[in-house]
Amino acid sequence: MNQNAAANGNSFPSGRPVVFRNATILTIDPSFGMIENGDVLVVDNHIAAVGRQLVAPDSAMEIDANGGILMPGMVDTHRHMWQTALRGFGADWTLTNYFQFYYLNWGKIFRPEDIYAGNLLAAIEAVDAGVTTTVDWSHGLQTVEYADAAVDALEAVPGRFVLAYGNLLGAPWQWTKAPEFADFIRRRIDGHGDRLGMQLAFDVTGDPAFPEKAAFEAARDFNLPVTTHAGVWGATNDNGIRLMYDHGFMTPSNIYVHAATLSQDSYHRIAATGGHASISTESEQNAGQGYPPTWQLRRHNIPVSLSMDTSVWWSGDLFSAMRATLSADRAREHMEAHRQNNTIMLSHLRAEQVVAWATLGGASALGMDSDIGSITPGKKADLVLIKNDQSPVMFPLLHPYGHVVFQAGRGDVHTVMVNGTVVKYDHRLIGIDLDSARRAVGKTVEYARSRMGEQAWSEAMHPEKAVVELIDNPYTYTDRERVQPTGNGETQE
Ligand SMILES: [Zn+2]
Repeated sequence: MNQNAAANGNSFPSGRPVVFRNATILTIDPSFGMIENGDVLVVDNHIAAVGRQLVAPDSAMEIDANGGILMPGMVDTHRHMWQTALRGFGADWTLTNYFQFYYLNWGKIFRPEDIYAGNLLAAIEAVDAGVTTTVDWSHGLQTVEYADAAVDALEAVPGRFVLAYGNLLGAPWQWTKAPEFADFIRRRIDGHGDRLGMQLAFDVTGDPAFPEKAAFEAARDFNLPVTTHAGVWGATNDNGIRLMYDHGFMTPSNIYVHAATLSQDSYHRIAATGGHASISTESEQNAGQGYPPTWQLRRHNIPVSLSMDTSVWWSGDLFSAMRATLSADRAREHMEAHRQNNTIMLSHLRAEQVVAWATLGGASALGMDSDIGSITPGKKADLVLIKNDQSPVMFPLLHPYGHVVFQAGRGDVHTVMVNGTVVKYDHRLIGIDLDSARRAVGKTVEYARSRMGEQAWSEAMHPEKAVVELIDNPYTYTDRERVQPTGNGETQE
């Protein structure tokens, strides 16, 4: 007889099959589509069967998914995980404030243990929120010792990660050539299984001398994909794309992060060479890289994946990414139509597409779509059950894709499975030491604050306010004094 997991003190002994029962399953696999009242059987680390009223082995643990939505684990293709150590610090930043903080002033003070702390917390946050695969766009790796610390943290958490190795304080054409860099790949990546992958992370400045050429050659020699911030207003632009194209470095394994402020010609080049985009809508909207470009990318048939960028500003919540991306795409379509005195009668971008971007889209961008990204028999079992019987938001469940995008949140993530192992059940993490992350991050905050000093800390967190110029209102009767908002919750006359 199958045993109910809840009756067993949330224990999921390894090696036992697991069966999810009676879920609304969003398989993201065109041959299965959506299955209501469906079951998924997991044996060892893979999906063994998908269907209705599956016969499961007697030894299987059963998870009651009734009333819930079962979907593939989400994939974040660009997150600077080390920056989670200062979660929320930059809530009021622009991209300029960010560059000043990390690139010009304070990035250099971070130590290997600070990288470890941020990565550990970010990795736990990802798994907890149903993000089973995360690219750690790790550009704080000043030496290989930092990279070891980054990987130590990723290996301490039972998720799937890709270390995108970078160093914002060094030249990529130099650090990729260092013998200790090759040694790091041999020691920490090669032969370590498919829960830890690697990319090279660096940006192309558009310098006509194209110094990044040597870094691209290193990527080719090590057989590593390249991920690059492209189309960032004021930082990277069409020149970088053209240089990459002219030198033959635009390949299907490339990931173009943001891809916002680019010409049609650059989009044509990305599309023609099979590259993927990583869209961080909340980042593009707040920091100013350019308008979130999915409304352009889908017309060029450029494959889209989603990402959160950094928790120093935003959350690590891909529900929020899906919602923001769908909203931004539709907002732009309405705006463009109104400019032509037209109205949009039918939405082009649908909730279903955005859920696919958050799952299979990410897996494809990482070249992992034969292993993960959909609920397909034979694939690795990375699964998320969205279910919350205490919530007034989980019923009625009429449009499940729309429910994922516009109704559910990460607080509704009930169960998370990575590689066949249940790592979260009944809203509680299993076998994950959140307190060690709390202690490590606490030390990093204390260190950074004392190293910067109170004044710099406070000024960095609260940049000088932009002046608001009030517009004269012709409909006012009297010339009474203006009430000026102060931004601190009070008004001042
Ligand atoms: Zn970024």
